Amino acid sequence: MSKLPLNPALQGLPVYQPGRPIDEVAREFGLPAADIIKLASNENPLGPSPQALAAMREVLSKLHLYPDGNAFHLKKRLAAGLALRPENVILGNGSNEIIEFVGHALMRPGTNIVVSQFCFAIYPLIARMMGASVITVPAREYGHDLAAMRQAITPSTTAVFVANPNNPTGTLASRDEVLALVESVPPEVLLVMDEAYIEFLDDPVDLLPWIRSGARPNLLIMRTFSKIHGLAGLRLGYGIGSTDLIEVLERVRQPFNINALVQAAALAALDDADHIQRTRDTNRAGLVFLTRECRELGLTVVPSAANFLMVEVGDGQKVFLGLQRRGVITRPMGGYQMPRHIRISVGTAKENQRCIAALREVMAQGASSPT
Ligand SMILES: *Cc1c(COP(=O)(O)O)cnc(C)c1O
Repeated sequence: MSKLPLNPALQGLPVYQPGRPIDEVAREFGLPAADIIKLASNENPLGPSPQALAAMREVLSKLHLYPDGNAFHLKKRLAAGLALRPENVILGNGSNEIIEFVGHALMRPGTNIVVSQFCFAIYPLIARMMGASVITVPAREYGHDLAAMRQAITPSTTAVFVANPNNPTGTLASRDEVLALVESVPPEVLLVMDEAYIEFLDDPVDLLPWIRSGARPNLLIMRTFSKIHGLAGLRLGYGIGSTDLIEVLERVRQPFNINALVQAAALAALDDADHIQRTRDTNRAGLVFLTRECRELGLTVVPSAANFLMVEVGDGQKVFLGLQRRGVITRPMGGYQMPRHIRISVGTAKENQRCIAALREVMAQGASSPT
């Protein structure tokens, strides 16, 4: 490449492939953007919280001022909702940035992290960026094998990452397995529990008591405003942990990573109980519909606890392209070593129907026709 003395960790490091934006697909196929639906990134099909939108409008005329670098009001509100202190919370530009904080704090050459096969792609990406290695534990029925992950910890392990429910598989680890893991991870290893989809669960495992009691200074819980609150475009996630852990992570955070619009929107979104409830209801109904319809098409689905569904379609890339030509953007899973699957995010009832109609056409064309 160039003569620049590149960080060797960047050698061969892949660039993350996000779900394709509607405008990009519209340009490629010469379709009106309004005719395209995106069911590719687990976004909220109802849009942003209306209260969040109103709160942001109020802030627009003050955008010449830097945001509050410590996000006083937002942290206070979040902490109150969690029955914790603001010092137990760190905010990130998406929870993706929290993962990067963990990378700066705990990953370097000679260390490793433990993840599961089919895990969220950002964990291994950040580890490799930091020059750390990645121990990947084989999945069980597409889900995390938490006992095996515990066994995989070595003296060089600095962090274990578990998303529950997991993305891209939608699988949920059992309460007993989660509690056994939290109890058994050694104190010198950070356990990151990524709860990006926890708000979609009826009866989630509550790990907050472990933080409140101070019993697990090596536990970091991550949550996000990208899914249930419908604010993926704003970028806000947060980490919850012991004050000691949060204090260390704060050292690697850029001072103004959470902008003023985000702070106002998030505060309002937390109080928008109506939007949260409608999102849950829409998702529950959509998940039931998509699961049933896919099975009726003769397809195997991985039972999902989140706001998306992984479906085995045969040639995943081909089916993804077929759907895309019909204006339905989904996510091919080849990059996750699941070339036979696509991931479909739950949309509105109308979007789900359109997705199934397109999927029916694409599957009926079968292997005989070229893409
Ligand atoms: C969507 C998602 C996130 C959230 O990422 P943001 O950066 O907050 O948008 C985190 N973890 C998992 C497993 C996810 O699927």
